Amino acid sequence: MLDMDGTILDLAYDNYMWMTHVPEHYAVKNGLSLSEARKQLFARFGALQGDLSWYCLDHWSERLDLDVLQLHRDNQHRIEFLPGAQDFLGVMRERNIEVLLVTNSHPDTLKLKDDVTGFSKYFDGIYCSHSYGFAKERQEFWSALHDEIGFDPNSTMFVDDSQIVLKSAATYGVDKLVAITCPDSAEPPRECTEFAAVEGVSELL
Ligand SMILES: [Mg+2]
Repeated sequence: MLDMDGTILDLAYDNYMWMTHVPEHYAVKNGLSLSEARKQLFARFGALQGDLSWYCLDHWSERLDLDVLQLHRDNQHRIEFLPGAQDFLGVMRERNIEVLLVTNSHPDTLKLKDDVTGFSKYFDGIYCSHSYGFAKERQEFWSALHDEIGFDPNSTMFVDDSQIVLKSAATYGVDKLVAITCPDSAEPPRECTEFAAVEGVSELL
């Protein structure tokens, strides 16, 4: 099981969108300086972090009165695989290893990212937490996913760049957990001491 943003796709895109592009548009719309717009937005993002609404484009489009999906489309040329991720997925295919995408992404951004990169051809199944009403940070998500596909937590490897999500999977009983420490190609690797860790999925080969 692989996460999408920061695991197979470069988080640089999402970071650019939420740290720069959305704040710029919010600033113009509300007559604010960029630094004031960032301050206001980051406080609102922080308050919902880990909640499904935090990942929900509709939520932010409504609350910020901006067409957040269109802002994403305007920057779709920035959507990219992380270095080595596409080769890794190709090898999984060649070896007939079942690979599932398990993501908190909103379905609209998932579709946009698939239209740009074509990642879905590498996956045997795609599971979005929005379908279940609970983010991966919640035990209810893992129960619902288990009810749907009946995975064996003892023989499943789950790879994600969020250590909070990995902790949630650990609590549920997923045995083999791997953290991605370099989810954004523009940033230096992060620290991770709690889980087995790789900079990118290609190291798993
Ligand atoms: Mg991620």
